[in-house]
Amino acid sequence: MRQSELFTKTQKAFPKDEVSANARLLIRAGYIEKLMAGVFSMLPLGFRVRENIMRIIREEMNATGACEIIMPALHPKSVWETTGRWDEMKSVMYQFGEGERAYGLGPTHEEVIAPIVQKHVNSYLDLPIALYQIQVKFRNEERPKSGLLRGREFTMKDLYSFHTNEESLNVFYDRVKEAYRGIFKRVGLGDTTYLTLASGGSFSQYSHEFQTVSDVGEDTIYLCKACSVAVNHEIITEQKVCPECNSNDLVKKNAIEVGNIFKLGTRFSEPVGLMYRDTDGTQKPVIMASYGIGVERLMGAIVETYHDDAGLIWPQAVAPFIAHLLIIGEQTGTLKKFADTAYQSMIDADIEVLYDDRTDVSAGEKFADADLLGLPWRLVVSNSTLAEDKIEVKKRTEKEKKLIALKELPKYITK
Ligand code: ATP
Ligand code: MG
Repeated sequence: MRQSELFTKTQKAFPKDEVSANARLLIRAGYIEKLMAGVFSMLPLGFRVRENIMRIIREEMNATGACEIIMPALHPKSVWETTGRWDEMKSVMYQFGEGERAYGLGPTHEEVIAPIVQKHVNSYLDLPIALYQIQVKFRNEERPKSGLLRGREFTMKDLYSFHTNEESLNVFYDRVKEAYRGIFKRVGLGDTTYLTLASGGSFSQYSHEFQTVSDVGEDTIYLCKACSVAVNHEIITEQKVCPECNSNDLVKKNAIEVGNIFKLGTRFSEPVGLMYRDTDGTQKPVIMASYGIGVERLMGAIVETYHDDAGLIWPQAVAPFIAHLLIIGEQTGTLKKFADTAYQSMIDADIEVLYDDRTDVSAGEKFADADLLGLPWRLVVSNSTLAEDKIEVKKRTEKEKKLIALKELPKYITK
């Protein structure tokens, strides 16, 4: 895409009212726009990052055998009364209307999915089932101030699985654990995201969170150096030992909860009559688990992990474009032709490229914007590179620049 046609512009200064690095950088670079605390628009560049994250999540979810669906955000009060959570969720759920017309905006979807599955399950032969969606959630979070990390409206990937017995649940649960590891690895957070034991509710001793270590994280975890599992501070014992391996070599860290997987047991199936006929002909409640990932929170965690004083630094898998081509100098004659050819050769090689062809900004501004936008590769075409018939190539993460012939360029970038 040509940057002259990109809707957004970068801002000269950081927004005054933001404290988190993710909000400061993403707003300044024109990726997102804040409507109010905890509610953001995704502008073209932010939209592309979000799409990339959702594509990776989708691929890993589909690989578990789960099917994608989409459920409504607007829920009748009645389904939340069935499970007793209408009152329980009052402080986080946006609720409005009265009588027949009382509604809530969904903060999660157990109440909607269990009745759907109930209509399609009769016998043990119909199970297991796994369904997921990537969908908007609403939560009336208290004064959110961490940018994308805590939204009042945000996108969640929520997966729900349905089983006849605990063994079947455990098999799928472990499969999702691995899928989650795959997702966090692919988005660049593999080395800093830890499987974390957290309190589990009534059905299992632990639930599992995926916590990305970060100074701005609102959670506190204890990282076990011996087995690389972490423990949420809420469940850690007085003695501070790892429940997995009993080591007491634990390090306290701040972390961002990017994902959460949870065995629900029959908490939501029983109230809605989600039963199946077992091999012996008896009716039994279906066993459930749920698995969440916050899409924008993940995007925010990536930014918190990868940035410097000059701007964003996107891991290639989620970057809005792979390369940023800058033409420096007057855009006429052979220089323009050379830059246009470079642009076209990237397109032909299927490398997503943003071409800074703006004529009304200085070279200095183009370089500063390239650092701020944070695309993985910077390609510069100027009269001096043209004299050598080459393009100057630099990675956002490195200082070193290289001159590469146009012919070699796509191969050099994709290698
Ligand atoms: P937290 O303790 O941070 O409020 P939670 O335990 O309420 O999170 P879940 O209900 O398990 O979160 O939701 C699943 C996932 O959705 C979380 O792991 C997180 O990635 C994401 N998430 C939850 N609340 C928010 C929010 N307000 N904004 C953005 N993402 C969120
Ligand atoms: Mg919460």
